[in-house]
Amino acid sequence: MLILISDAFAPDLPEKLSPYGDVTDDKGKLQEATVVLVRSKTKVTREYIDFAPNLKLVIRGGVGLDNIDLNYAAEKGIAVHNTAAASSIAVAELAFTLMIALPNHVTKADSTMRVGQWAKKKLKRTELYKKILGIVGLGRIGTELAKRAAAFGMNVVAYDPFVDSSEVAIMKPDLKDVLNNSDYISLHLPLTEETKGIIDGEILNEFKDGAYLINTGRGKTIVEEDVVEALKSGKLAGFGNDVWYSDPPKNTPLIDAPNVIMLPHLGASTKENLLRIGDIIESIIRDFVLTD
Ligand code: NAD
Repeated sequence: MLILISDAFAPDLPEKLSPYGDVTDDKGKLQEATVVLVRSKTKVTREYIDFAPNLKLVIRGGVGLDNIDLNYAAEKGIAVHNTAAASSIAVAELAFTLMIALPNHVTKADSTMRVGQWAKKKLKRTELYKKILGIVGLGRIGTELAKRAAAFGMNVVAYDPFVDSSEVAIMKPDLKDVLNNSDYISLHLPLTEETKGIIDGEILNEFKDGAYLINTGRGKTIVEEDVVEALKSGKLAGFGNDVWYSDPPKNTPLIDAPNVIMLPHLGASTKENLLRIGDIIESIIRDFVLTD
């Protein structure tokens, strides 16, 4: 059995998987591969699947499965797994990093220092304490973020049509109830037909004036041009973004927008997470070998 490691994983993964078959990172061997390991870079499209006649198992190291044609994989009898639980802490910590960095002007303070400016009087910070955090999509990552926000004395509200009650957030039945009152909005949505472009110009009007928006979910859940307009008008005080229309983004208008912190899709990229992902992948492959 050939296991193709197609994207970046922990360096010890090939050794960990070696008892189960031959392990390669040579993408040219796709046609021979029984198992393919991907993160978000490799797109497992219909064409990709058609090029891999021996493929039986795709494992996505991470959460989002939007880079995999799930219907076609099912049609071809290819099992698809993710490592959903592994990344929650890593992504929640990154969303929290953005929530701290934005109102404390961390990147602006650093870049002005580097060009010899002393912006002490100009950069007015605000505290998270007693502010309202609105979480859109209260799944694994949103829940971890809510716990951390509580430790900072924030009040947490959330919108998620599939979650009725929560111990970490006050659930609101209407998205607008969350947006109207929150000082910070953090998006933790999967990309689906319903969530694509959910944050557009119309819904941005429902945001509290001067709110901060954070997106570590999926880039296409926001309309970038509309977010840029909201930043320019001051409707949004700032935007912290880790996720893009494509990795890397092509011609994003966010580059020239004010008060934006941009990250190159770092949410899952902690050393600890890659090790957790490796452990889960090993157990999935072990089960696959045992039941095959
Ligand atoms: P999850 O499935 O546990 O949580 C997602 C939540 O969104 C669910 O509770 C679901 O009910 C809710 N939801 C679905 N449609 C909704 C809608 N229309 N409105 C409001 N809520 C809705 O997933 P998770 O592990 O918390 O991950 C969330 C997302 O984060 C993933 O789908 C992935 O796209 C993204 N992610 C990003 C990174 C990164 O590197 N930045 C890493 C991992 C995951």
